[in-house]
Amino acid sequence: MVTEEKDSVLYDVHAEVASITMNRPRYRNAQNGRMTYALDDAFKRAVDDDCVKVIVLKGAGRHFSAGHDIGTPGRDINDSQDRKTLWYDHADKTGGEFLYVREAEAYLGMCRRWRDIPKPTIAMVQGACIAGGLMLAWVCDLIVASDDAFFSDPVVRMGIPGVEYFAHPFELHPRIAKEFLFTGERMNAERAYRLGMVNRVCKREELEAETLRLANKVAEMPRLGLALTKQAINNIEDLQGKRTGMEAAYAWHHFAHTHNELETGHKLGGQDAKSMAAKNTEQNKQGI
Ligand code: ZN
Repeated sequence: MVTEEKDSVLYDVHAEVASITMNRPRYRNAQNGRMTYALDDAFKRAVDDDCVKVIVLKGAGRHFSAGHDIGTPGRDINDSQDRKTLWYDHADKTGGEFLYVREAEAYLGMCRRWRDIPKPTIAMVQGACIAGGLMLAWVCDLIVASDDAFFSDPVVRMGIPGVEYFAHPFELHPRIAKEFLFTGERMNAERAYRLGMVNRVCKREELEAETLRLANKVAEMPRLGLALTKQAINNIEDLQGKRTGMEAAYAWHHFAHTHNELETGHKLGGQDAKSMAAKNTEQNKQGI
């Protein structure tokens, strides 16, 4: 039985725009280790290609990304990977060290690496953009969403203070970020647009064209001008505490993982993809 696409990430270039597509649609593009490193390879390819001015990140199928892979047959959390940061291998470690090291490399480390890519990046978001999916959208410079897109970080239900790349108070006003995390509710594209978390909202059938229109517009600017502008704004965010704030949040995140393991023998506090999805669906049915 085939349970995986041959390539977990697809890559193509049209004019000056590279498209990187997460390609696990039957699992709502849940991000496993294999996909993480395939994404990194694709970003590197786009950076290395002088013809590429702008990079678009997409998800195949009905959803952008349901988040980190916490339950598909392709979950590969225990595997060693060809690491990109200088963290040592997590796979043969135990206790809190196992997950702290893995997530420092695969989640926080990789997200920071992608956020600082010296070319503009645009996330094209449809359907679900949940938890780890938010991290992938948030590392991009611009976000274009279709009107059926929704965003949520229900990780607090696991007793954990949100996802590893803790950009919430930068993406949203702190009061809204608290609401977003405290309730775990879905935020629809329209509200995300009003709050400044996304740049454009359009009909689902226009999403691709709208995203490409924006990408091509940005691509008219000179490469170095774009790279320096991106650095200048990212630097301001870091001076405002984005990077150092994330360090503290990452430590609290891992205190929670370890506490969960001590209390329940399970790093996610007994939750899995099924139980999280059931709760999210129930909440959505209640119209909250
Ligand atoms: Zn984690």
